[in-house]
Amino acid sequence: MNCDVKAGRDLDIRVVCIGNELLKGFTVNTNLADIGRMLTGEGLLIKESLTISDSPEEIVQKLDMILKSGCDVVVTTGGLGPTKDDLTKKAVADYFSLPMVEDAGVRRHIEGYWTARNCPMPESVLVQALVPKGAVCFRNEVGTAPGMVVEVGDGRTPCVILLPGPPAEMIPMFRDEVLPYIAELSFGRTITETICISGIPESIVESRAVEALKEISTISLAYCASIENVKIYISSKDPEGIAVSKRLLKRVFKGNILPVGVSSPAEHVARLFMRKGISVSFAESCTGGMVAAALTGIPGASRIFKGSIVAYSNEWKKLLLDIPGYLLDVHGAVSAECAGGMVEALCRKFGSDAGVAITGVAGPSGGTAAKPVGLVYIAARLGGRGVVREYRFPGGRERVRMRSVSAVFNLLTELYRAQFK
Ligand code: AMP
Ligand code: MG
Repeated sequence: MNCDVKAGRDLDIRVVCIGNELLKGFTVNTNLADIGRMLTGEGLLIKESLTISDSPEEIVQKLDMILKSGCDVVVTTGGLGPTKDDLTKKAVADYFSLPMVEDAGVRRHIEGYWTARNCPMPESVLVQALVPKGAVCFRNEVGTAPGMVVEVGDGRTPCVILLPGPPAEMIPMFRDEVLPYIAELSFGRTITETICISGIPESIVESRAVEALKEISTISLAYCASIENVKIYISSKDPEGIAVSKRLLKRVFKGNILPVGVSSPAEHVARLFMRKGISVSFAESCTGGMVAAALTGIPGASRIFKGSIVAYSNEWKKLLLDIPGYLLDVHGAVSAECAGGMVEALCRKFGSDAGVAITGVAGPSGGTAAKPVGLVYIAARLGGRGVVREYRFPGGRERVRMRSVSAVFNLLTELYRAQFK
């Protein structure tokens, strides 16, 4: 869903990340993610981003293309240093036919930087004090290459903002100097709010969300799925549109919505169980302790977690969880019957209010036509209620095991809601 916004057009911001190392895969482009996140926090959005090589021709060509397409702000990162492959400034100056001139303030900053380190300054670093004529510099508190803005229109836009590549220099400069500069140019805030949903696949989340919000024309939606949750990002310049959308989504997804600040089903269960003082234990086969690890990773888990039995082999399922040999012979270790037997013994031995048993085929080997890789049985108990559920998870060994962990906590949330509705 992508709709008109009421409060005027968005500032058109493009980001160009420059550096051969980014294209070769030697450096991950974290600058784009950091700039995107910082802009989103200010209610501004990147319209488009490009990653290009340290080639002056490429820089000029892409700048020309972007500016001719009607953009307001171009932000570049990279290529501002003193080495031969740092070509961004000169390419931008050439594109606008601006001479390079020395900025006295930047020169003093560079000299001060070297003096403070008690090192002789190589002459070559002074190239960093050269800027396209008319550019306004942003101070680099961490390094020596300044950032700068070249305003090329009749008013303040369009403008080209050049930033250094190293994230340690780019991030504070962007946050402290560039963000306020861009915010002043903007035509109104775009608010983005997040709703975090667990236990429902992304495609179903999307179709239900689109259906629920089909009457609302002032918002746009984006989704991000992980094994633990699906995030819905609702963006708009219309606060009322966001508020109504959140209300409608809460009605549709109810108990599957994770509270604000909670990002995993394990954390959600921990909060719910701590509130009511519910104790829990686990019997794990294919997850090998991952469920216990997920819960004990949460501060305060000792208030609710009694312990886990990791019984991987049939022998130890018999010894530790009292699974009868005939049950394993008839149904196998990966079966609803085995999971049910495991949880029964578990709750008896630990005397916990809640218990979960997990048994499955994580792969990559061990699958059969009847019991393929990804088949997992989870048996859960809470109070008087018990449920055994069959899952068929896609993905390789690690993903099957991680999905099992999420499913355990989603099932516990479900039982909790049934018990305390
Ligand atoms: P530069 O300003 O082009 O000399 O970049 C210096 C260093 O900053 C590079 O070697 C990279 O390690 C890092 N860097 C440049 N661009 C990025 C980027 N987009 N994301 C993360 N690191 C970067
Ligand atoms: Mg570079």
